[in-house]
Amino acid sequence: MRAEVIAVGSELLTPSKLDTNSLYIARELGQLGIPLVRKSVVGDDRELLCEEIRRAQACSDLVFLSGGLGPTLDDLTRDAASDATGRPLLMDESIVREIEARFRSFGRPMAEVNKRQAYLLKGAVKLDNPRGTAPGQWLQDGARVLVLLPGPPRELKPMFAEQCLPRLRAMTPSRPLHSWHGRVTGIGESDLEQRIGPLYSPCSTIATTILSSPGDVQIHLQGQHGGAVERLAGQISAELGDAVYSTDGRSLPEIVADLLRRTGLHLAVAESCTGGLLSGRLTDIPGSSEFFAGGIVSYSNGAKAAWLGVARDTLERFRAVSGQTAREMAERARARAVEALGEPAVGLSTTGYAGPSGGSSGDRPGTVYIGLADSAGSLVRRRQFGRGRKRVRTLTVLGALDLFRRRALGLKIP
Ligand code: AMP
Ligand code: MG
Repeated sequence: MRAEVIAVGSELLTPSKLDTNSLYIARELGQLGIPLVRKSVVGDDRELLCEEIRRAQACSDLVFLSGGLGPTLDDLTRDAASDATGRPLLMDESIVREIEARFRSFGRPMAEVNKRQAYLLKGAVKLDNPRGTAPGQWLQDGARVLVLLPGPPRELKPMFAEQCLPRLRAMTPSRPLHSWHGRVTGIGESDLEQRIGPLYSPCSTIATTILSSPGDVQIHLQGQHGGAVERLAGQISAELGDAVYSTDGRSLPEIVADLLRRTGLHLAVAESCTGGLLSGRLTDIPGSSEFFAGGIVSYSNGAKAAWLGVARDTLERFRAVSGQTAREMAERARARAVEALGEPAVGLSTTGYAGPSGGSSGDRPGTVYIGLADSAGSLVRRRQFGRGRKRVRTLTVLGALDLFRRRALGLKIP
């Protein structure tokens, strides 16, 4: 069995609106082990849509349509599905009554155009929509299924979960898929590909997906044989070593949060070039006050001196972007957290040239110092993150979190 999704709506072809329904459907199908082989976006055009439905049905048994079920003239999914399947649309009186009742409950009369939503493809089963007026439709023709779903995600998702999933489960033999979700930091995508490509390419029974973003590469393995997935995951982990920070999909901030919770340490940050992004990533995690003491965005030299207590002499002699400044920032952040909370704490700091310009002393943009201070002392790492302001700042945040992870786990710090 293979599936396709067609997202319908001219707004989805504009620069400002993203098709998110297909992402949801893709995840749900993935969990059932139904391969999604194609998805497409089609504007509100009856002929194009009819053509697309025909094409999709010719190569996939399961076709999901999202959107275009509203009452207005640009909602053409029903008509196009009728054209494509050759099935007439028949008015369903019970749907008319339901829509009327819904309008009555809002104290409004039903507009005549809403009757357009009461037409079902001949032979289709209605999918109830308690959150909106447009019902969905499930049309089964032998092994071939065409599903019409409403566009608004808050209507589509529960309809899919409550009324499509049980039908899909009944159609698929239960073969649970085994998966592994590793995450890697500190290794670039092409370097990683060179190292693990030879491992996974011969392993065609395991679907391998690599998702790469600056400083974070995600490796998904999925297959029907748990042993095979485990073996490949083991080989990848052995090749990449301690650059694999997560084996269950958790993000680096989540891993750091768990390490802090386990050790009872509080983290305090002093940020310069990351301007609060590090604090932001940590406080994205619900309940972060348990382990995150707080931070100071000390962007100017004055703030580094006055708010944090970095020595003016350090700033003058070594400059703001230097190992000495990073070290003092981390130490001061830690000292202030210990003082404020009366509990053990770790300090992390960032200072660097995010770009586009570098330092007056010839330091290139992307030159960053990350500092860490804990009860055993302090350490600093100089990193060169290349170009792109946003990228450099993201890499700095992840670099700082990884420095803490390595220190907490007693791993080698490169
Ligand atoms: P429709 O069912 O075409 O009338 O769509 C109703 C609303 O759902 C519109 O406001 C769209 O912005 C939203 N919508 C439609 N299709 C999608 C989609 N594929 N992903 C996310 N939102 C959508
Ligand atoms: Mg629409």
